[in-house]
Amino acid sequence: MARADFGQRTSTAMARRRVRIPDGHRDVTKTRIAWYVPAVFTPEAIVAERGAEETPMARRCRERLPAVPFSVVDDRRDFQATIAGDFATAKRRLLLAPHRGSFLEHCPAGTRGLACCNLLLMNLASNCPMDCGYCFLQEYLANSVALTAYVNPEAALAEVAQVLDRHTDRHFRIGTGELADSLALDPLTGLSAELVPFFAARPNALLELKTKTDAIEGLLTLDPKERVVVAWSLSPPAAVALAEHDTASIPARLAAARRVVAAGYKVGVHLDPLIEHEGWEEGYCDLVAALVAAVPANRLAWVSMGALRFSPGLRTKVRSRFPGTPLLAGEQVPSADGKWRDFQPLRVDMYRRVRRFVEAALPGVPLYLCMETPEVWQRVFGTPPPSEQALGARLAIR
Ligand code: SF4
Repeated sequence: MARADFGQRTSTAMARRRVRIPDGHRDVTKTRIAWYVPAVFTPEAIVAERGAEETPMARRCRERLPAVPFSVVDDRRDFQATIAGDFATAKRRLLLAPHRGSFLEHCPAGTRGLACCNLLLMNLASNCPMDCGYCFLQEYLANSVALTAYVNPEAALAEVAQVLDRHTDRHFRIGTGELADSLALDPLTGLSAELVPFFAARPNALLELKTKTDAIEGLLTLDPKERVVVAWSLSPPAAVALAEHDTASIPARLAAARRVVAAGYKVGVHLDPLIEHEGWEEGYCDLVAALVAAVPANRLAWVSMGALRFSPGLRTKVRSRFPGTPLLAGEQVPSADGKWRDFQPLRVDMYRRVRRFVEAALPGVPLYLCMETPEVWQRVFGTPPPSEQALGARLAIR
């Protein structure tokens, strides 16, 4: 799918709402945007598993989208059967169902010989209405593709509370953006109104809401009390056009970042994956400059960098879903964890160049590598990675 110009959006599933923004918020990057246009994902249908249809989340979804057909199935597998493993179709229909089992897990980076930042993951949804060409969910969710919002977030927060109360001497960083985008469904589910007050009252935890949307309206009236970081994955617009289908444009993401900063939130940035494309070096230099113009350095909690990475199964999926994609055209080789990445000297060179842009523009802001080996870390920074406890604590108390 071709990406529209800077400041535009391609998705047919995204309904536009015009929200005027103050003059000072408009001049974001190279393009002036006269109107701030947040997009709200509108599914073709909402389906609830029996028992979930009268939950507060289901009621909010129905109230907010009264024109979208709503139905109930006895078992979520009946709904899965209607999608028949079709990933694109799954992204257009919303399933509401309870999560069974544990919500919390450790980020998988820590288990495969990779340097780790000690992030915990809280899974409140599964799949995502956007469609990035490199997204690992294409393979990871192959047997369970339904775009699902879990209707029992109170159970997730009870589980988190137990962990935080048991370890009051430790600082935790907990993210919700692993198996889903943290904010894509928020205008429908209203989940942020439960998450932000919970974490605002917790001195030993930081919540990371990671997104490629500009769906921040639900955050703006809440007080995060320095316990919530809204993190954006950012790429140069040319890379967004190549790979990040149906996501908010970079000016829209940066405009949203300005607005959450004004509302009291800190911002995180993930330059992950770094995408090599024609003019990439200038693209990342301009992107960092645009970030600096949008977010004061003292409100930036961290910047991470990561490489394009594909498991063998994901490569097969991406080839079939996006034939001819340039994402697989680089000199990629298998890494120790089984994933294919760009040949190490190439990605180290890219990391070093982007590192220079970030450190020159944002001195003092923590910069780290995601899903990389200690060897690559050493070659990029000239020092071995800190222990996962040290890096995790440094990020969690920002
Ligand atoms: S925004 Fe994130 S979760 Fe959604 S498709 Fe892109 S990479 Fe996957």
